[in-house]
Amino acid sequence: MSANVLVLGGGFGGWVAANEIRNGLPEKHRVMVVDRSDSSCLGLSLLWLMTGDRKADRISRSFSSLERKGIFFVHGDIDRIDPQRREVIVGGKIFSGDYLVVALGAELAPETIPGLQEAGHNFYTLSGADALRRAMANFSGGRLVIMTTAPGYKCPAAPYEAAMLLEDYCRSHNLRDKTRIELYAAEPGPMAVAGPAVSRAVRQMVESKGIVYHPEHQVVEADPAARRLRFSNGVEAGYDLLCYVPPHRAPRAVRESPLIGESGWIEVDRHTLATRFERVYALGDVVSIPLKLGKPLPKAGTFAENEAHVVARNVIRDITGKGEAAAYDGRGECYVETGDGQTAYGEGKFYGDPVPEVTLHPPSPEWHDAKIRYEREWLEAGIRSNDDFRRTA
Ligand SMILES: Cc1cc2nc3c(=O)[nH]c(=O)nc-3n(C[C@H](O)[C@H](O)[C@H](O)COP(=O)(O)OP(=O)(O)OC[C@H]3O[C@@H](n4cnc5c(N)ncnc54)[C@H](O)[C@@H]3O)c2cc1C
Repeated sequence: MSANVLVLGGGFGGWVAANEIRNGLPEKHRVMVVDRSDSSCLGLSLLWLMTGDRKADRISRSFSSLERKGIFFVHGDIDRIDPQRREVIVGGKIFSGDYLVVALGAELAPETIPGLQEAGHNFYTLSGADALRRAMANFSGGRLVIMTTAPGYKCPAAPYEAAMLLEDYCRSHNLRDKTRIELYAAEPGPMAVAGPAVSRAVRQMVESKGIVYHPEHQVVEADPAARRLRFSNGVEAGYDLLCYVPPHRAPRAVRESPLIGESGWIEVDRHTLATRFERVYALGDVVSIPLKLGKPLPKAGTFAENEAHVVARNVIRDITGKGEAAAYDGRGECYVETGDGQTAYGEGKFYGDPVPEVTLHPPSPEWHDAKIRYEREWLEAGIRSNDDFRRTA
Protein backbone atom coordinates (compact mmCIF):
# COMPACT_ATOMS: atom_id res chain seq x y z
CA MET A 1 0.00 0.00 0.00
CA SER A 2 1.27 3.44 -0.78
CA ALA A 3 0.57 6.48 1.39
CA ASN A 4 -0.14 10.06 0.42
CA VAL A 5 1.25 12.83 2.65
CA LEU A 6 -0.22 16.27 2.12
CA VAL A 7 1.76 19.20 3.53
CA LEU A 8 -0.18 22.46 3.70
CA GLY A 9 2.23 25.40 3.41
CA GLY A 10 5.81 25.22 2.14
CA GLY A 11 7.32 27.89 4.40
CA PHE A 12 9.82 27.26 7.17
CA GLY A 13 8.20 24.22 8.76
CA GLY A 14 6.34 22.78 5.76
CA TRP A 15 9.49 22.77 3.64
CA VAL A 16 11.50 20.85 6.24
CA ALA A 17 8.68 18.38 6.91
CA ALA A 18 8.11 17.67 3.20
CA ASN A 19 11.81 17.20 2.44
CA GLU A 20 12.46 14.95 5.39
CA ILE A 21 9.35 12.83 4.78
CA ARG A 22 10.28 12.49 1.09
CA ASN A 23 13.83 11.44 1.99
CA GLY A 24 12.61 8.91 4.51
CA LEU A 25 9.96 7.16 2.41
CA PRO A 26 10.30 4.69 -0.47
CA GLU A 27 9.36 6.18 -3.85
CA LYS A 28 5.94 4.56 -4.07
CA HIS A 29 4.66 6.93 -1.38
CA ARG A 30 3.61 10.40 -2.45
CA VAL A 31 4.49 13.72 -0.78
CA MET A 32 2.67 16.85 -1.88
CA VAL A 33 3.06 20.49 -0.79
CA VAL A 34 0.33 23.08 -1.37
CA ASP A 35 1.18 26.76 -1.17
CA ARG A 36 -0.34 29.96 -2.55
CA SER A 37 3.11 31.43 -3.22
CA ASP A 38 5.69 30.15 -5.68
CA SER A 39 8.53 30.81 -3.25
CA SER A 40 9.25 31.31 0.41
CA CYS A 41 11.03 34.36 1.79
CA LEU A 42 13.54 34.19 4.66
CA GLY A 43 12.18 36.35 7.52
CA LEU A 44 15.53 37.26 9.03
CA SER A 45 16.74 38.64 5.68
CA LEU A 46 13.89 41.17 5.68
CA LEU A 47 15.79 43.10 8.34
CA TRP A 48 18.80 43.32 6.04
CA LEU A 49 16.54 44.22 3.13
CA MET A 50 15.16 47.24 4.98
CA THR A 51 18.68 48.53 5.67
CA GLY A 52 19.70 48.06 2.02
CA ASP A 53 22.04 45.13 2.78
CA ARG A 54 19.99 42.65 0.72
CA LYS A 55 18.00 42.77 -2.50
CA ALA A 56 14.32 41.88 -2.56
CA ASP A 57 14.72 39.26 -5.31
CA ARG A 58 17.59 37.48 -3.53
CA ILE A 59 16.11 36.35 -0.24
CA SER A 60 13.59 33.69 -1.26
CA ARG A 61 13.76 30.05 -2.24
CA SER A 62 11.61 28.72 -5.02
CA PHE A 63 9.11 25.90 -4.59
CA SER A 64 10.07 24.54 -8.01
CA SER A 65 13.12 22.98 -6.37
CA LEU A 66 10.77 20.79 -4.31
CA GLU A 67 9.70 19.10 -7.55
CA ARG A 68 13.31 18.28 -8.38
CA LYS A 69 13.37 16.37 -5.09
CA GLY A 70 10.35 14.27 -6.07
CA ILE A 71 7.80 16.30 -4.09
CA PHE A 72 4.60 17.30 -5.91
CA PHE A 73 3.90 20.98 -5.64
CA VAL A 74 0.41 22.44 -6.00
CA HIS A 75 0.41 26.20 -6.46
CA GLY A 76 -2.86 27.55 -5.14
CA ASP A 77 -4.87 29.03 -2.32
CA ILE A 78 -6.26 26.55 0.17
CA ASP A 79 -9.85 27.56 0.54
CA ARG A 80 -11.15 24.89 2.91
CA ILE A 81 -9.66 22.27 5.19
CA ASP A 82 -11.61 19.20 6.32
CA PRO A 83 -9.44 17.52 8.97
CA GLN A 84 -11.88 14.62 9.50
CA ARG A 85 -11.52 13.57 5.87
CA ARG A 86 -7.96 14.96 5.59
CA GLU A 87 -9.07 16.91 2.55
CA VAL A 88 -8.46 20.42 1.28
CA ILE A 89 -10.06 22.44 -1.48
CA VAL A 90 -7.67 24.38 -3.70
CA GLY A 91 -9.13 26.35 -6.61
CA GLY A 92 -12.27 24.20 -6.59
CA LYS A 93 -10.28 20.93 -6.64
CA ILE A 94 -10.19 18.44 -3.80
CA PHE A 95 -6.86 17.05 -2.59
CA SER A 96 -6.77 14.41 0.10
CA GLY A 97 -4.07 12.69 2.09
CA ASP A 98 -3.57 9.74 4.39
CA TYR A 99 -1.59 12.21 6.48
CA LEU A 100 -2.09 15.96 6.72
CA VAL A 101 0.65 18.30 7.98
CA VAL A 102 -0.69 21.81 8.51
CA ALA A 103 2.10 24.41 8.34
CA LEU A 104 0.21 27.49 7.14
CA GLY A 105 1.96 30.02 9.38
CA ALA A 106 0.33 33.18 10.70
CA GLU A 107 -1.74 35.67 8.73
CA LEU A 108 -0.83 39.34 9.12
CA ALA A 109 -3.79 41.62 9.79
CA PRO A 110 -2.71 45.32 9.76
CA GLU A 111 -6.20 46.32 8.63
CA THR A 112 -7.58 45.48 12.09
CA ILE A 113 -6.07 48.70 13.49
CA PRO A 114 -7.68 51.79 11.95
CA GLY A 115 -5.28 53.89 9.89
CA LEU A 116 -2.27 51.63 10.44
CA GLN A 117 -1.74 50.45 6.85
CA GLU A 118 -1.65 53.99 5.47
CA ALA A 119 0.43 55.30 8.37
CA GLY A 120 3.61 53.25 8.07
CA HIS A 121 5.59 50.33 6.72
CA ASN A 122 4.87 46.71 7.61
CA PHE A 123 8.42 45.35 7.62
CA TYR A 124 7.12 41.79 8.22
CA THR A 125 6.45 41.44 4.47
CA LEU A 126 8.84 41.52 1.51
CA SER A 127 7.08 44.50 -0.07
CA GLY A 128 6.82 46.34 3.27
CA ALA A 129 10.50 45.85 4.14
CA ASP A 130 11.46 47.00 0.65
CA ALA A 131 9.22 50.09 0.96
CA LEU A 132 10.87 50.86 4.29
CA ARG A 133 14.28 50.60 2.61
CA ARG A 134 13.20 53.23 0.07
CA ALA A 135 11.72 55.42 2.82
CA MET A 136 14.97 55.22 4.80
CA ALA A 137 16.93 56.24 1.70
CA ASN A 138 14.79 59.42 1.56
CA PHE A 139 14.73 60.03 5.31
CA SER A 140 16.48 63.19 6.39
CA GLY A 141 15.93 62.89 10.13
CA GLY A 142 13.03 63.40 12.56
CA ARG A 143 10.98 61.01 14.68
CA LEU A 144 11.54 57.40 13.65
CA VAL A 145 9.09 55.04 15.36
CA ILE A 146 9.22 51.24 15.48
CA MET A 147 6.07 49.68 16.91
CA THR A 148 4.56 46.31 17.80
CA THR A 149 0.79 46.31 17.53
CA ALA A 150 -0.07 43.24 19.64
CA PRO A 151 1.92 41.39 22.34
CA GLY A 152 2.17 38.11 20.36
CA TYR A 153 4.00 38.03 17.03
CA LYS A 154 6.48 35.80 15.22
CA CYS A 155 10.17 36.23 15.98
CA PRO A 156 9.95 38.13 19.28
CA ALA A 157 13.46 39.53 18.68
CA ALA A 158 12.69 41.10 15.28
CA PRO A 159 11.27 44.52 16.28
CA TYR A 160 14.14 45.00 18.74
CA GLU A 161 16.64 44.01 16.07
CA ALA A 162 14.91 46.36 13.63
CA ALA A 163 15.25 49.26 16.08
CA MET A 164 18.97 48.58 16.62
CA LEU A 165 19.66 48.11 12.89
CA LEU A 166 17.85 51.34 12.02
CA GLU A 167 19.83 53.12 14.72
CA ASP A 168 23.02 51.77 13.14
CA TYR A 169 21.72 52.90 9.73
CA CYS A 170 21.10 56.44 11.04
CA ARG A 171 24.62 56.60 12.49
CA SER A 172 26.28 55.40 9.30
CA HIS A 173 24.21 57.82 7.19
CA ASN A 174 24.93 60.90 9.37
CA LEU A 175 21.32 61.05 10.51
CA ARG A 176 21.67 60.06 14.14
CA ASP A 177 21.97 63.54 15.67
CA LYS A 178 18.87 64.60 13.71
CA THR A 179 16.81 61.53 14.59
CA ARG A 180 14.88 60.52 17.70
CA ILE A 181 14.28 56.77 17.64
CA GLU A 182 11.43 55.37 19.71
CA LEU A 183 10.14 51.84 20.12
CA TYR A 184 6.50 51.48 21.22
CA ALA A 185 5.73 47.92 22.28
CA ALA A 186 2.38 46.34 23.09
CA GLU A 187 4.20 43.79 25.29
CA PRO A 188 5.66 44.46 28.76
CA GLY A 189 9.25 43.78 27.69
CA PRO A 190 11.43 42.22 25.00
CA MET A 191 11.30 38.43 24.53
CA ALA A 192 9.56 37.85 27.87
CA VAL A 193 9.18 34.08 27.35
CA ALA A 194 12.96 33.71 27.38
CA GLY A 195 12.91 34.85 31.04
CA PRO A 196 13.60 38.09 32.94
CA ALA A 197 17.40 37.99 32.54
CA VAL A 198 17.23 37.73 28.73
CA SER A 199 14.47 40.35 28.59
CA ARG A 200 16.49 42.77 30.72
CA ALA A 201 19.61 42.19 28.64
CA VAL A 202 17.83 42.91 25.33
CA ARG A 203 16.15 46.01 26.77
CA GLN A 204 19.54 47.23 27.97
CA MET A 205 21.06 46.66 24.49
CA VAL A 206 18.26 48.72 22.94
CA GLU A 207 18.37 51.56 25.47
CA SER A 208 22.18 51.76 25.44
CA LYS A 209 21.84 52.96 21.83
CA GLY A 210 19.70 55.90 22.86
CA ILE A 211 16.51 54.29 21.59
CA VAL A 212 13.58 55.39 23.75
CA TYR A 213 11.57 52.33 24.76
CA HIS A 214 7.87 52.47 25.69
CA PRO A 215 6.61 49.01 26.74
CA GLU A 216 2.91 48.24 27.34
CA HIS A 217 1.67 50.70 24.76
CA GLN A 218 -1.15 49.12 22.80
CA VAL A 219 -1.89 51.16 19.69
CA VAL A 220 -5.61 51.57 18.96
CA GLU A 221 -5.52 54.00 16.06
CA ALA A 222 -3.12 55.68 13.65
CA ASP A 223 -3.77 58.97 11.89
CA PRO A 224 -1.63 59.03 8.74
CA ALA A 225 -2.56 62.63 7.83
CA ALA A 226 -1.54 64.04 11.21
CA ARG A 227 1.21 61.40 11.65
CA ARG A 228 -0.04 60.53 15.10
CA LEU A 229 -0.58 57.30 17.03
CA ARG A 230 -3.12 56.80 19.80
CA PHE A 231 -2.61 54.15 22.48
CA SER A 232 -5.12 52.42 24.79
CA ASN A 233 -3.57 54.11 27.87
CA GLY A 234 -4.48 57.55 26.49
CA VAL A 235 -0.95 58.42 25.32
CA GLU A 236 -0.56 60.00 21.89
CA ALA A 237 2.69 60.11 19.92
CA GLY A 238 3.82 61.72 16.69
CA TYR A 239 6.16 60.27 14.09
CA ASP A 240 7.83 61.20 10.82
CA LEU A 241 8.58 57.65 9.72
CA LEU A 242 6.75 54.64 11.15
CA CYS A 243 7.44 50.95 10.76
CA TYR A 244 5.48 48.29 12.54
CA VAL A 245 4.84 44.62 13.26
CA PRO A 246 1.17 43.99 12.41
CA PRO A 247 -1.30 41.94 14.47
CA HIS A 248 -1.18 38.22 13.71
CA ARG A 249 -3.98 35.66 13.48
CA ALA A 250 -4.43 32.12 12.14
CA PRO A 251 -4.96 31.97 8.35
CA ARG A 252 -8.62 32.19 7.25
CA ALA A 253 -8.76 28.57 6.02
CA VAL A 254 -7.69 27.45 9.51
CA ARG A 255 -9.99 29.88 11.36
CA GLU A 256 -12.94 28.54 9.41
CA SER A 257 -12.07 24.88 9.98
CA PRO A 258 -12.68 22.58 12.98
CA LEU A 259 -8.91 22.71 13.56
CA ILE A 260 -9.15 26.09 15.27
CA GLY A 261 -8.85 26.01 19.06
CA GLU A 262 -9.91 28.37 21.83
CA SER A 263 -6.54 30.11 21.66
CA GLY A 264 -7.35 31.24 18.10
CA TRP A 265 -4.65 28.87 16.82
CA ILE A 266 -4.39 25.11 16.34
CA GLU A 267 -3.85 23.19 19.56
CA VAL A 268 -1.54 20.20 19.42
CA ASP A 269 0.22 17.69 21.62
CA ARG A 270 3.36 19.61 22.65
CA HIS A 271 5.63 16.60 22.04
CA THR A 272 4.19 15.02 18.87
CA LEU A 273 2.40 18.01 17.25
CA ALA A 274 -0.60 15.74 16.70
CA THR A 275 -3.97 17.49 16.52
CA ARG A 276 -7.16 15.89 17.87
CA PHE A 277 -7.81 14.56 14.36
CA GLU A 278 -6.34 11.23 13.37
CA ARG A 279 -3.14 11.52 11.28
CA VAL A 280 -3.42 15.30 11.18
CA TYR A 281 -0.42 17.23 12.50
CA ALA A 282 0.15 20.97 12.78
CA LEU A 283 3.38 22.87 13.39
CA GLY A 284 5.04 26.26 13.34
CA ASP A 285 3.36 29.63 13.68
CA VAL A 286 -0.13 28.24 13.17
CA VAL A 287 -0.07 26.31 16.48
CA SER A 288 -0.29 27.51 20.05
CA ILE A 289 1.61 25.50 22.65
CA PRO A 290 1.03 26.68 26.22
CA LEU A 291 4.10 26.74 28.48
CA LYS A 292 4.16 26.22 32.23
CA LEU A 293 4.70 29.96 32.84
CA GLY A 294 1.30 30.68 31.28
CA LYS A 295 2.51 32.09 27.96
CA PRO A 296 2.64 30.18 24.66
CA LEU A 297 5.80 28.92 22.99
CA PRO A 298 7.00 31.83 20.81
CA LYS A 299 6.41 31.74 17.08
CA ALA A 300 9.68 31.51 15.15
CA GLY A 301 11.29 29.59 12.33
CA THR A 302 13.52 27.70 14.76
CA PHE A 303 10.50 26.13 16.47
CA ALA A 304 8.76 25.44 13.14
CA GLU A 305 11.85 23.61 11.86
CA ASN A 306 12.45 21.62 15.04
CA GLU A 307 8.79 20.61 15.19
CA ALA A 308 8.88 19.64 11.51
CA HIS A 309 11.74 17.18 12.16
CA VAL A 310 9.66 15.48 14.86
CA VAL A 311 6.52 15.28 12.72
CA ALA A 312 8.50 13.94 9.76
CA ARG A 313 10.16 11.21 11.79
CA ASN A 314 6.87 10.08 13.29
CA VAL A 315 5.03 10.09 9.96
CA ILE A 316 7.85 8.04 8.36
CA ARG A 317 7.77 5.61 11.28
CA ASP A 318 4.01 5.29 11.07
CA ILE A 319 4.13 4.49 7.35
CA THR A 320 7.22 2.26 7.25
CA GLY A 321 7.32 0.89 10.80
CA LYS A 322 11.00 1.89 10.91
CA GLY A 323 12.88 4.31 13.15
CA GLU A 324 12.44 5.58 16.69
CA ALA A 325 9.46 7.64 17.84
CA ALA A 326 10.43 11.30 18.15
CA ALA A 327 9.27 13.84 20.72
CA TYR A 328 9.74 17.61 20.62
CA ASP A 329 11.42 18.97 23.74
CA GLY A 330 10.83 22.69 23.17
CA ARG A 331 14.35 23.50 22.04
CA GLY A 332 14.92 26.67 20.06
CA GLU A 333 17.58 29.22 19.23
CA CYS A 334 17.62 32.75 17.93
CA TYR A 335 19.97 35.41 16.66
CA VAL A 336 19.52 38.96 17.95
CA GLU A 337 21.07 41.50 15.59
CA THR A 338 22.37 44.49 17.55
CA GLY A 339 23.93 46.64 14.80
CA ASP A 340 27.62 47.34 14.06
CA GLY A 341 27.93 43.87 12.50
CA GLN A 342 27.27 42.20 15.86
CA THR A 343 24.70 39.60 16.82
CA ALA A 344 23.75 38.02 20.14
CA TYR A 345 22.63 34.39 20.22
CA GLY A 346 19.98 32.85 22.44
CA GLU A 347 19.41 29.14 22.89
CA GLY A 348 17.47 27.02 25.29
CA LYS A 349 14.76 24.65 26.33
CA PHE A 350 11.42 26.39 26.27
CA TYR A 351 9.61 23.45 27.87
CA GLY A 352 11.71 24.05 31.00
CA ASP A 353 9.67 23.64 34.16
CA PRO A 354 8.61 25.96 35.76
CA VAL A 355 10.24 28.44 33.36
CA PRO A 356 12.15 28.14 30.07
CA GLU A 357 15.92 27.74 30.44
CA VAL A 358 17.42 30.15 27.94
CA THR A 359 20.99 31.46 27.64
CA LEU A 360 21.80 34.64 25.75
CA HIS A 361 25.37 34.81 24.46
CA PRO A 362 26.57 38.44 24.19
CA PRO A 363 26.81 40.17 20.81
CA SER A 364 29.83 39.29 18.71
CA PRO A 365 30.91 39.35 15.05
CA GLU A 366 31.16 35.53 15.21
CA TRP A 367 27.42 35.11 15.88
CA HIS A 368 26.78 37.58 13.09
CA ASP A 369 28.82 35.40 10.72
CA ALA A 370 26.92 32.34 11.93
CA LYS A 371 23.63 34.08 11.08
CA ILE A 372 24.87 34.84 7.58
CA ARG A 373 25.92 31.21 7.14
CA TYR A 374 22.47 30.10 8.26
CA GLU A 375 20.91 32.48 5.72
CA ARG A 376 23.06 31.11 2.92
CA GLU A 377 22.34 27.48 3.76
CA TRP A 378 18.62 28.20 3.96
CA LEU A 379 18.60 29.87 0.55
CA GLU A 380 20.82 27.21 -1.02
CA ALA A 381 18.33 24.55 0.04
CA GLY A 382 16.03 25.95 -2.61
CA ILE A 383 18.41 27.80 -4.92
CA ARG A 384 16.84 30.95 -6.16
CA SER A 385 19.81 33.25 -5.96
CA ASN A 386 22.35 33.57 -3.28
CA ASP A 387 25.38 34.92 -5.04
CA ASP A 388 25.07 38.53 -4.13
CA PHE A 389 25.47 39.05 -0.42
CA ARG A 390 27.03 42.36 0.43
CA ARG A 391 28.10 40.96 3.75
CA THR A 392 29.78 37.60 3.50
CA ALA A 393 30.99 35.39 6.29
C1 LIG B 1 11.25 40.23 9.97
C2 LIG B 1 11.26 38.80 10.43
C3 LIG B 1 12.40 38.27 11.01
C4 LIG B 1 12.42 36.96 11.44
N1 LIG B 1 13.57 36.45 11.98
C5 LIG B 1 13.58 35.18 12.44
C6 LIG B 1 14.76 34.65 13.02
O1 LIG B 1 15.81 35.31 13.09
N2 LIG B 1 14.72 33.39 13.50
C7 LIG B 1 13.57 32.64 13.44
O2 LIG B 1 13.57 31.49 13.90
N3 LIG B 1 12.44 33.12 12.90
C8 LIG B 1 12.41 34.36 12.40
N4 LIG B 1 11.27 34.87 11.84
C9 LIG B 1 10.01 34.09 11.95
C10 LIG B 1 9.87 33.02 10.90
O3 LIG B 1 9.98 33.54 9.60
C11 LIG B 1 8.51 32.34 11.07
O4 LIG B 1 8.29 32.04 12.42
C12 LIG B 1 8.46 31.06 10.25
O5 LIG B 1 8.45 31.41 8.88
C13 LIG B 1 7.25 30.22 10.58
O6 LIG B 1 7.25 29.07 9.78
P1 LIG B 1 5.88 28.36 9.36
O7 LIG B 1 6.26 27.22 8.52
O8 LIG B 1 5.04 28.14 10.54
O9 LIG B 1 5.10 29.46 8.49
P2 LIG B 1 5.58 30.24 7.16
O10 LIG B 1 7.04 30.15 6.97
O11 LIG B 1 4.97 31.59 7.27
O12 LIG B 1 4.88 29.43 6.01
C14 LIG B 1 3.49 29.41 5.84
C15 LIG B 1 3.20 29.10 4.37
O13 LIG B 1 1.80 28.85 4.21
C16 LIG B 1 1.35 29.46 3.02
N5 LIG B 1 -0.09 29.71 3.15
C17 LIG B 1 -0.74 30.35 4.15
N6 LIG B 1 -2.07 30.31 3.94
C18 LIG B 1 -2.27 29.64 2.79
C19 LIG B 1 -3.42 29.25 2.04
N7 LIG B 1 -4.67 29.56 2.45
N8 LIG B 1 -3.25 28.57 0.90
C20 LIG B 1 -2.00 28.23 0.45
N9 LIG B 1 -0.88 28.55 1.12
C21 LIG B 1 -1.00 29.25 2.27
C22 LIG B 1 2.18 30.74 2.91
O14 LIG B 1 2.25 31.19 1.57
C23 LIG B 1 3.53 30.28 3.45
O15 LIG B 1 4.44 29.87 2.43
C24 LIG B 1 11.25 36.16 11.33
C25 LIG B 1 10.11 36.68 10.72
C26 LIG B 1 10.11 37.99 10.27
C27 LIG B 1 8.87 38.54 9.60
